[in-house]
Amino acid sequence: MRVAAIIPAAGLGTRMRRAAEGAEKSPKQFLRLDGSSILMHTVRKFVACPSIGEIIVALRAQDRGRFEQELGEAALARPVVLVEGGRYRQESVRNGLERVSPGVELVAVHDAVRPCVPVELIERVIQAAARTGAAIPGLPPVETVKQVENTRIRTTLPRERIVLAQTPQVFRLELLRRAYQQAEADEFVGTDEASLVEHLEVDVSVVPGSDRNIKITRQSDLALAQLFLREAAGDHG
Ligand code: C5P
Repeated sequence: MRVAAIIPAAGLGTRMRRAAEGAEKSPKQFLRLDGSSILMHTVRKFVACPSIGEIIVALRAQDRGRFEQELGEAALARPVVLVEGGRYRQESVRNGLERVSPGVELVAVHDAVRPCVPVELIERVIQAAARTGAAIPGLPPVETVKQVENTRIRTTLPRERIVLAQTPQVFRLELLRRAYQQAEADEFVGTDEASLVEHLEVDVSVVPGSDRNIKITRQSDLALAQLFLREAAGDHG
């Protein structure tokens, strides 16, 4: 089965920049950990994935030059196609979808800012989507989950029925394209691909996620990401 990866990497990382009080001008996917950008660490995970045939990265025009340079230096075993990012994550992924090669059957969409994703998890989600057509990794919350209105608790949600949605989210290409068309027609904006497929009322299956697959969002996530990347590379020093 031919599988393409789309990595949206056109976000501004405003939450991180606010936390750093403007000291860090780079979007978080371009911060460097152990000599590579976070985006490059993420791309390498997909290069290491035997099932992935092509990799498409969506970038802001102003970030293209520096990433092209890093790609040149990295000399990866697989080509990486660059496309223009959009105003929203959804737009960035849609631009990537337009560049998927004919004959590809499954598409894996993965946040650029999740560089610690285990290759084994990518393969597991792909296998699930090959069976069901749509699969995502989900992690049960460890805290008790409350629904709130302003500062008041409305209700306590049943934790055993909740998962936190991670990426990669993997779908049959034809299904994901249909979900994007419908979302556009309905002006529906979701924060992940599964929500667009849910909007079509098509079932999405959930496989166990990984607590290592963190989404680098705040300053404090960086130290943890570095630790996980070093452990995955077999360097425990
Ligand atoms: O916005 P959020 O923090 O959920 O970002 C998740 C991923 O989507 C990040 O990798 C970010 O770079 C990407 N993104 C994008 N285009 C945008 C906004 C976010 O590719 N306009």
